[in-house]
Order: sequence, then structure tokens, then C-alpha cells
Amino acid sequence: MCLKIRVTGIIQGVGFRPFVYRIAVKNKLKGYVKNLGDAGVEILVDGNEENIQSFLQDLKKEKPLLAQIHEIMTEKVSRRGRFADFVIRKSSREKELSGSVIPPDIAICNECLKELRKHEDPRHDYFFITCTNCGPRYTIIYKLPYDRENTTMRNFPMCSFCKSQYQNPLDRRFHAQTVACPICGPQIYLTTSKGESINYKDPVRETGKLLSEGFIVAIKGYGGFHIATSTIEDKPLFKLRKAKFRKQKPFAIMARSLEVIRTFATVNLKEAETLMAYTRPIVLLNKSEKYYLSDLISPGLHNVGVMLPYTGLHYMLFDKVSDPAFVMTSANPPNQPIIKDNNEALKKLGNTVDYFLFHNRKIAHRCDDSVMRIHNKNLVYIRRSRGYAPAPIMLKEKAQKCALGLGGELNNTACVLLGKKAFLSQHIGDVENVETREFLKKATEHLIDLTGSKIEVIACDLHPKFTTTKIARNLADQNHWQRIQVQHHYAHVAALMAEHNLEEIIGICCDGYGYGVDGEAWGGEIILGTREAPYFKRVGHLEKQPLIGGDKATRYPLRMAASILHKKVEIQEWLSHHAKRFPYGEKETQLLMQQLEKKRYAIYTTSCGRILDAIAAILEICYERTYEGEPAMKLEAAAIRGENDVLKLKPEINDNVLNTTQMVLEIFKNRKKLSRADLAYSAHVYLAKGLATLAIEKALENGVKHVGFSGGTACNEILALNLRKIVEKAGLKFVIHKAVPPGDGGLSFGQAVVGGFLTI
Ligand SMILES: [Zn+2]
Ligand SMILES: [Zn+2]
Ligand SMILES: [Zn+2]
Repeated sequence: MCLKIRVTGIIQGVGFRPFVYRIAVKNKLKGYVKNLGDAGVEILVDGNEENIQSFLQDLKKEKPLLAQIHEIMTEKVSRRGRFADFVIRKSSREKELSGSVIPPDIAICNECLKELRKHEDPRHDYFFITCTNCGPRYTIIYKLPYDRENTTMRNFPMCSFCKSQYQNPLDRRFHAQTVACPICGPQIYLTTSKGESINYKDPVRETGKLLSEGFIVAIKGYGGFHIATSTIEDKPLFKLRKAKFRKQKPFAIMARSLEVIRTFATVNLKEAETLMAYTRPIVLLNKSEKYYLSDLISPGLHNVGVMLPYTGLHYMLFDKVSDPAFVMTSANPPNQPIIKDNNEALKKLGNTVDYFLFHNRKIAHRCDDSVMRIHNKNLVYIRRSRGYAPAPIMLKEKAQKCALGLGGELNNTACVLLGKKAFLSQHIGDVENVETREFLKKATEHLIDLTGSKIEVIACDLHPKFTTTKIARNLADQNHWQRIQVQHHYAHVAALMAEHNLEEIIGICCDGYGYGVDGEAWGGEIILGTREAPYFKRVGHLEKQPLIGGDKATRYPLRMAASILHKKVEIQEWLSHHAKRFPYGEKETQLLMQQLEKKRYAIYTTSCGRILDAIAAILEICYERTYEGEPAMKLEAAAIRGENDVLKLKPEINDNVLNTTQMVLEIFKNRKKLSRADLAYSAHVYLAKGLATLAIEKALENGVKHVGFSGGTACNEILALNLRKIVEKAGLKFVIHKAVPPGDGGLSFGQAVVGGFLTI
């Protein structure tokens, strides 16, 4: 019998063909296996039926760790007897199937780590040691099929040793496109901040020493540059904060080992598992009582973003020093994408860092580290990028149309929805400037190309002025695609529905800002989502509060607090007392009072983020938002230390609107009497109670069984856990995001879902 088998999934670059070779030989079959141009694999097996059946079983059961099979299609062919043995054929150029994809970058495997440490191994101390089970993929691939000449490894022809392993079907490095050694592979070198090279025999370990001594070094990795320095010394951190225009935004750190992490942070089982997964994300961990790293790493927060080493290079950094961890933050100027090219790094980082640790392999596609948080036992993606992108999110149902979602404005990603698979791009960032815009375009093109998608509909935000809205309009015109605009919170809710394959849902959608269908600033919404037109309906929301000074009210949360409190309580004196917290001092507070008196404000917001911001300002926790979500995150940090709902307020709901003024007012009145932590906690409890009550009411009214929580605020653990408790107590199911970030990193997915499923 002769059987042609086509397999789709994540099967290129994960040792799939050698695996097929081994099981074919084991089952005494002849024929071939080859990569198809779109990341699928074609197998032809010739032999007796029994052996072929056993081969098919092995194919499903014993596949390599990193391989993910989506589909296996078989077809009988009449070519019996034409093959002398089983071979791995050269890749085919044609694009035959679509929807397969290459794997994400994978952390160094244990075998490679052992070889790195073994003196007699030819790859001893080789910083970029890899095999078919580990190493970079997505960041080095220019185009499919995944062959060396289509990757940035094409500049490094294999030496005879590497070649012998590459060609040996029984070797771990058989057809490993990243195979390299100190003789033939990428080289590493240390330079001054001006790029003059410094000759060291062991530049990586030398870098470790420099970091330990308090120098700042830009280190080139798989998907871009990191800026690294000590986690103990304040001085370099001060310098970094000044140079990176990051007053307060937390820096991620890389720790030597899990045991060491436990010396400064608490790590539960799920967190440990996540830290050690081959995807090696940054995990936000609660600082322990004995936290001893510099306070400048994540100022004012209860947690710190930690990851473990994921390349040979990272492990070697720690060899000659005793530091528990190094700062390892993405190297990007404010609002720009992570730096990936050597020249760009010299130009943009030369004034910030003391040294560069370069290697001479190009980065085809930049990719930031992923960030996760664990709520109880649930994984929450803060940022889904390295280790995950571009692996598809599998849906239960097939989309009617091939759709592209372009996301919103901040923390952006793009998403291609094809059939049952949603391919979410790596983290793109804030799409306000040219560099990020270009990055978005490139990442989108690459995603369409890699997946062989033929886009039919493009989905973007409802905001008329968003950059992504304009790009979507142009792309739709150029390519004759259908274009739809999806309201921000509708997209969040659509994402939840698709992830859980729900017919209907009541979505609690909280975040900072989304353009509402009435043109106002939404951000604390209860939305009914269904599969029938009009699909989404706003059925409740937080009380509208004036947003005075637009962006200024977001940046300086005292403004938000003042406008909520105004007319309810005397605030003049309180404002004067805090005058120095306003950029223009007393003058600005007077002007603000006048605006409030004369009701000179054009816009209202229902944002949950703004309410949390206002409370953070009233409780003197945060006066200026220097990064997205800062006041709310710091408020949560304070609330986590609180224990009691000291306000015990009953949520006041009128006409489907949850009153927020009374709670803010109570906090203001009690700010000096009661504990700050308890007040911060009480604010969370009030919002959770109020939102849950409203959502449950709407669920019962509409006969809906699921209540979901989405939007950036869903990263908040206290709110998420309290909402769950109340909703489940009411006998309803509570759902959160499992595969995409609840924040705007998941927005493109929701938009694509609306485009793919709900357009005619
Ligand atoms: Zn390996
Ligand atoms: Zn070699
Ligand atoms: Zn949002």
C-alpha cells in the first residue's frame, strides 16, 4: 500500500521530519518526507497496511515535544515499489496548503545546557548552542519553508562537524536549521558605548562581571536588545531611569535560578511551572517580605517581573558573579519598538549604556519577552509575545471569512484569523509614531505571508482618529478588502466569546479608554454579546464622570478626583494643599476650579481605570501616571495589603448605572481616619460588588449563563477574584481570557473574530 499523508500544525523547525524518518524506518516503510512551502509536511509511505497503521499511530502519539499537529489528511496513491528506502527530501517551493505556521522561539533545552557545560564537548561554552528541540525560530525566519537559506543563519555555512550531525537522521541536530558551533556559528563580541571592540577571550562572562560591578550593558539576544544592569546597585538604575525616560515603569529582571527567585519573591506551583516552561515568559511575582533587590526596579508595586535564562548566553552571564539577578529590560526608546539592529543600537543606546554585547547574526523579526501574571491558578497574559507568537490560538469553530484585525492604539498586536486558527502577532507596542507603525505593517505582512492567508475582511477600532483606523482604510482600499470598525469593548467581549465558544455572554469590560458608539470615553461597561445582529449591546456602565483637560486628566489623576468630588464636598483647600502635584501649581488648581464651577468640560468618561486613578490620588499613592495603568497598579499594590472592606457600601445602581461618586466621596472623607490599605481594598470590593450585581441582573434578565471579565483592568487580581466569587455564588459561570491578553494586546483578536464570524 502507498499512502500520501499531509500534516499541518507547528511541525517545521521542531524536529518533525527526523521523527517521521525514525518512525518510518522503525515500521519498515519506504518513501519520503518533505516540508511544504507553507509549513505543512508531506509524507509518502510505502509498505504493508499493518505497518502503515502502526506508523500513523506513532505519528500521533510520539510526536516531538514542541510539535503541534492540527490536521492529518491521508490519500491512497498508486506508486508502490518505487522507493528503495525512506528519505528526507528537500523542501518543496510550492504553496499548497494554508494555515500552518512555524513555531515560536524556544528556550535552551536541558541536553544543550548540559553540552554547554561539558568541557570536552565541541560546543562547550558556545553561547548560541541549539538543537531541533530549542533555539530561535520566528525571529530568524525570513520566509517559509523553514530551511537554513530562508533564515538569518544563511550567513553561517556549517562546518564539517555540524554538517555531519545535521545530516545524521539519528542525531538530535538532524536538520536543525540553527545548528552551529564556535567554529562556524555566530560570534559574540564586547564593545565600548561607541562600538569600539574590546578584545576579551570570554566576552559573555566578562559582561556578567561588568553588570555585577554596576555598568549598563546592551545585550543582543534572539528577538532584540536588552538593557542589562545590576539589581542591587541603585546608581545604574537611577541612570537608566533618567536615560530611558522611565520615571517609574518597572524593569523586568532575569534571575539566576528558581531557588534564587525564592529568596526575594514568593513563587507558587503554577508560577514555578510558568517560569520554567520552554516559553520562559516574564512572570509577575509578589515581592516577599525579605525582598532585598533595589526599590528602583518596580517602585511602588507589590510585584516584580522575573524571568529565567533562556539562551546559553544568559546562563553564562551568571557564571562568574554572585548576583541573584540582572535587570533585563527591552531596549526601546519611549514608544518605539525594541531595537534589533546593531547600528540602530549604537545610535539609539550609545548615550545610555556603557558597553554593548553584540553578536553578528541578524534578527529577521523583533520580538519582546512575554509577560504573565497568575491569578490564583489562572494564567493571565499581560503580553503575549516571545515563546508564544506566532503559534495559533485554536478555535472551536471555523470562521466564515479570513479576517485581519489591526488592534487599537496602545499595547497593540495584529491578528490573522483563518479557519479555526487565529494567529496573533508578537507585541507591537503603542502605534503612535512612525517606527511602531512600520513595525505593525511589517509584522502584519509577515503573518499573512507565513500563514498563506487571503484576507477578505479587515477589522479596526471605531475611533476615527486612531492610526490603525487609517491604516485599515488604506489597506482595504488597496487590496479591495471589506472593512469593518468594531467598538473597542465589543471587540474585548468578542474575544472572550470566541475563546470559550459561547453563544452569548454578559461581558464586564473595564479598562482605561475606548471610543464609545456615542463618541464618549468608555471604560466601565456591561455588554451583552450574542451571535445575532446587532451582536453587541451596552446594557450597563459606570457613572459618567467629567474628564477635564482630556489627556491631562489621565496623566494627573488629581484632576479626575477633583471633578468627581466637586460640589459634593469642599475641595478648594485640599487642592491647594496638593498644588505642587500639578505641573503649573496653584495657578492650575485655580483654573481647574473655575472650569468645574462653570462646567466647562466637553467630555465624560465611564472608565473604571479613571476611577481607580482618582482613588490612588486621593490616598496619596500616585499623582502622576508616567506609564499605562500606573496609578491603578499602585492602588492594587496598596490594596493587597488591606484586609477589610471598611466602607461596607451597598452598590448604588440606578437605570443600569453604577454610582461611583458615593464611593470616591467616602474614601475622601475617611482618608485620614482609616487605613490606606483597607480603603484601597474597599474601593476594589465596591467596584467588584457593583459590577457583578449589574452583570448578574442583566444575565438573568436575558437568560444568559456566562459572565465574563475583560479589558486591561481584568489584570487586576483583587477585582478578578472578587467578581468570580460573586458571579459563581449567583449560579452563573465566570469566564476570563485563557489564550489572549485581557488588555489591548488581545483587541486585534476580538476584532478579527467579529470580522471573520459576524460579517456578511
Ligand atoms: Zn537543545
Ligand atoms: Zn560548526
Ligand atoms: Zn481595552
